[in-house]
Amino acid sequence: MTAPHAAGVSTTRTGQQYLQAIDDGRAVFINGQCLTRHSQHPAFSGAVASVARLYDYQASHLDEMAFALDGERHVGKAWELPARHEQLLGRAHASLAWARQSLGWLGRSPDHVAAALTGMMTHIEVFEAHSPERAAALKAYFDDARRRDLYLTYTIVNPQGDRSRSPGEHTDNLYHTLGVVKETDAGVIVKGAKMLGTAAVLADEVLVGVQNPLKPGVDDRYALSFALPLNTPGIRILSRASYAEGKNAFDHPLSSRFDENDALIHFDNVLVPWERLFVYGDTAMCRRQFHGTAAEVLMDTQSLARLTAKLHFLTGLAQRMTEITGVSDFPAVREILGEMACNTLMIEGLFKSLIHCPVTQNGYVVPDKKHLYMCQAVAQSVYPKFIEALRKLAGGGVIMLPSHVDDLHNPEARLLVEQTQYSSSATPLERVQLMKLAWDAMGSEFGSRHLQYEMFYSGPHFVALARVHSEYDWEAAKAMACSALVETAESYCPTADGAGQAAGSSVSW
Ligand SMILES: Cc1cc2nc3c(=O)[nH]c(=O)nc-3n(C[C@H](O)[C@H](O)[C@H](O)COP(=O)(O)OP(=O)(O)OC[C@H]3O[C@@H](n4cnc5c(N)ncnc54)[C@H](O)[C@@H]3O)c2cc1C
Repeated sequence: MTAPHAAGVSTTRTGQQYLQAIDDGRAVFINGQCLTRHSQHPAFSGAVASVARLYDYQASHLDEMAFALDGERHVGKAWELPARHEQLLGRAHASLAWARQSLGWLGRSPDHVAAALTGMMTHIEVFEAHSPERAAALKAYFDDARRRDLYLTYTIVNPQGDRSRSPGEHTDNLYHTLGVVKETDAGVIVKGAKMLGTAAVLADEVLVGVQNPLKPGVDDRYALSFALPLNTPGIRILSRASYAEGKNAFDHPLSSRFDENDALIHFDNVLVPWERLFVYGDTAMCRRQFHGTAAEVLMDTQSLARLTAKLHFLTGLAQRMTEITGVSDFPAVREILGEMACNTLMIEGLFKSLIHCPVTQNGYVVPDKKHLYMCQAVAQSVYPKFIEALRKLAGGGVIMLPSHVDDLHNPEARLLVEQTQYSSSATPLERVQLMKLAWDAMGSEFGSRHLQYEMFYSGPHFVALARVHSEYDWEAAKAMACSALVETAESYCPTADGAGQAAGSSVSW
């Protein structure tokens, strides 16, 4: 462990520095109000404090979490270009360590988008082929964001609107989706919305991009990627309902601390300076930015580290819940618990395979894209099954609970709790706490949002499967299948000397 402060100089970003930066005057709309100092608002303060704790953890575990950029300055490992396998392993373990700090409930911790930008830098030639100026802008931005260890969120999906039409075909509302209004000497003026920025109230800046399909000629104005501070004039953050506001740590132990928020982000004639513009006017480049570089693989390796931590948490929660209700040794219950443990270890195994079976591209060691896409698709289907299993095990125990911690301060209500929350392996109070935790994880608004998050944050399931389909080595698999046909009449090709020769029997795996 390295000391965070050497000779009184901060060598890395601390929680305190993060807290000082976050109230930057950004416009956050919630509950009918527009806030310009949001960090201490009850909707956001719990999550803001959790992020500050992440930076403090990094500052007090520099060897594990950070690398030396220049001289004394240390920044998070997510910013390190993985030129050696140990660096890929180091960044993955740092993500896992951070994920454990939030028990897996902060999806968009600062290492996620930092990893995306790092993955763009490992394939900077993709940007150079698009435009040398845009590539230079990305390089300069990366250097600056990395030096400051910035916390970025991203908005890379367009608002749904009418999904049967592309943004340019919404002719009655061309700026429903964020697009370019005009060019100026200073940059481009943009207007319109992006669907969601998770952690937009927590991050310093936003990276904007497009994952949705765009049509050349029709959608050129929407084909752009840039990064801006979230307090840029004209940016407005329209928060969803808070799941933390009015919640306390006893009744809602997760919501109160880890509601990272999601918000629609609207741009009202916002200037994007040329030096902040990374993709411009090229519809195909928008997806290449993520899929033709290591952006997607590095950012979602972080996601898998986080999911690994979260599933271990949920498996432990399920085990303790069944001990409390006295069913943990029933064979049928052990089967459900065994399946949960199995799925958790499967996700952990997939995470390990990503970092232990990498590929080398451009001299950088990165996870294999086809494995990453498979992990996304599998993770999307595992999580709903997990929640269903938890609900099955919980029964009504997660509902038969006092309304609020205040009930415990009312002597009559407390007596009722003590008489009714019986368990052979926990006090009534412990039982109530554990059941409230379980409900927060699986059934509260917060828990329910997490189900939606795990199903959609990496895109809809059909898209994840389409990506796997496009990356899978069908020829090798077909050749293997056909090798079983050696002795059949159709594939048995007689040679001149009358001996047989199998068609397509060489398998490269
Ligand atoms: C909690 C949460 C947090 C998020 N955070 C972020 C964030 O921080 N940044 C960000 O950029 N995005 C974020 N997103 C958005 C996320 O990336 C999108 O939800 C995801 O890409 C799916 O897009 P969509 O919601 O527009 O769904 P759609 O594309 O509209 O799809 C919804 C459903 O419609 C059907 N469907 C749609 N199109 C087709 C088709 N062509 N063929 C067949 N079926 C189809 C499918 O059933 C699909 O599941 C977040 C989403 C959630 C739920």
